[in-house]
Amino acid sequence: MLIVGGGIIGMAAAWRVAQAGLSVTMLERDTPGAGTSRVAAGMLAPVAEVEFGEAGRRALELGLRSAAMWPAFARELETASGVSVGLLRTGTLVVARDDDDARELDRQHEFRRSLGLAVARLRASQARALEPALAPTLRLALHAPEDHSVDPRLVLAALERVCVAAGVQVRAHAPVARVQLDAGASSVEGVVLADGERVPARRVVLAAGPWSELIEGMPRSAGASVRPVKGQILRLRDPAGPGLLTRVLRFRGGYLVPREDGAYVLGATVEERGFDLAPTAGGVYELLRYAHELVPGISELHVEELAVGLRPGTPDNAPVIGPAGVDGLVWATGHYRNGILLAPLTAQLVAGVLGGDAEDRLLAACSPTRFQAAAAAAADPAAGEPAVA
Ligand SMILES: Cc1cc2nc3c(=O)[nH]c(=O)nc-3n(C[C@H](O)[C@H](O)[C@H](O)COP(=O)(O)OP(=O)(O)OC[C@H]3O[C@@H](n4cnc5c(N)ncnc54)[C@H](O)[C@@H]3O)c2cc1C
Repeated sequence: MLIVGGGIIGMAAAWRVAQAGLSVTMLERDTPGAGTSRVAAGMLAPVAEVEFGEAGRRALELGLRSAAMWPAFARELETASGVSVGLLRTGTLVVARDDDDARELDRQHEFRRSLGLAVARLRASQARALEPALAPTLRLALHAPEDHSVDPRLVLAALERVCVAAGVQVRAHAPVARVQLDAGASSVEGVVLADGERVPARRVVLAAGPWSELIEGMPRSAGASVRPVKGQILRLRDPAGPGLLTRVLRFRGGYLVPREDGAYVLGATVEERGFDLAPTAGGVYELLRYAHELVPGISELHVEELAVGLRPGTPDNAPVIGPAGVDGLVWATGHYRNGILLAPLTAQLVAGVLGGDAEDRLLAACSPTRFQAAAAAAADPAAGEPAVA
């Protein structure tokens, strides 16, 4: 079987599928880990990320499930690869800069409590006792003790090693141009690379992130409605070493994620600009504007990198995982802001689908065909209603 795309999703799925005994080839147009996953901050934050509404609740369920899998996933990955993946179980503080933020944070606190989530409201002095680098002007904070972080670049390095060790055939510089279907367009026969090489396979998993829909050959009904959402993000380093912050800090318009070694990730813009990957001065300004006010000490940090990534967004911000109406074709993309968080769960779901042992309820929430079904219902409100004799 083939997996198209060697990001965190493609590699985690390839590893699990190979562990289940299937023969796997992974096709990556660049080198494994060269896409969005290496840009990500690495927050594992289902509680801080939860949004209002039905789609938000579904995403929360997926996020909590995957977050609970991360400690064992990281241990297994570290043992099998010999690479530490930088899992920091130090929790998250969501902070308010001004009175407007504080009112919003109170609303968010009530919402999370109503969902039974682990979150505590802290006065500014309590938050500053936990993180003394926070500015005295801070208004209020929420503490999410179970929202942790990991270093995605270390995870990618570890995944590449374990994939190879598990027997995955990793083909770098192998861009897939199209999916090849049988004459009736009802089942997959393989893929065709950009140079015309045909790679036959009865099963193909599409994990090409925001570029997934650029792959040709799929019937419209099998589309997954994925679009790129640009994010700019700064990598900073404290020349004095670690210790400025120990927890992930989130605030209106951004976040700061500490690593073990004195590095920090300051993210991220959210921009609808298609496949544009240009870093901009406006992006840097947006990142530093509030962060500098909340943690004045970041002015002393050295700038190591300004990176740009494209999140694979979907109309409801939930991923698309599972079969797509064409026999043998499976989607694993659309993870938007949570692909690092959702990698262990996605890998398990994909391995389940391919092994014929799928968890239906979770897969239904991620169904690749849900957007077409919603569009059809909107176009024809009578569709789906029982016929009246
Ligand atoms: C700034 C930023 C911050 C983020 N922070 C977080 C965070 O803190 N926590 C979190 O959970 N998520 C975060 N995300 C989201 C996360 O990065 C993504 O959801 C995740 O990386 C998606 O993984 P992927 O494997 O689907 O995509 P990718 O990592 O992009 O992998 C897709 C791969 O497919 C390859 N490819 C594309 N087209 C083809 C083709 N035709 N043939 C062969 N190969 C192809 C690409 O080269 C790429 O390697 C962040 C994203 C951004 C941009």
